[in-house]
Amino acid sequence: MKQIIRQIDETGRIVLPKPFREILGVNLKDNVVMSLGENEIILRKAGTECSLCGGEGIVEYRGILLCKNCVDDIATRAKD
Ligand SMILES: [Zn+2]
Repeated sequence: MKQIIRQIDETGRIVLPKPFREILGVNLKDNVVMSLGENEIILRKAGTECSLCGGEGIVEYRGILLCKNCVDDIATRAKD
């Protein structure tokens, strides 16, 4: 795993290293998803996962990305 040390600025921001952005195809103004792991923050490009659970296998519904599991769960709850 490649590592680069960056300093968090006085407002809590960091700059994503350009080489990392280029490798992952993350462009300026793109959205990213941050997840809290055990002693780490995981960051990935947004737009390829379910908006509710982060799962894969998504479909778009009215501009929202959802996985089949979440669609099925919503449909089940709507019937109740
Ligand atoms: Zn989901």
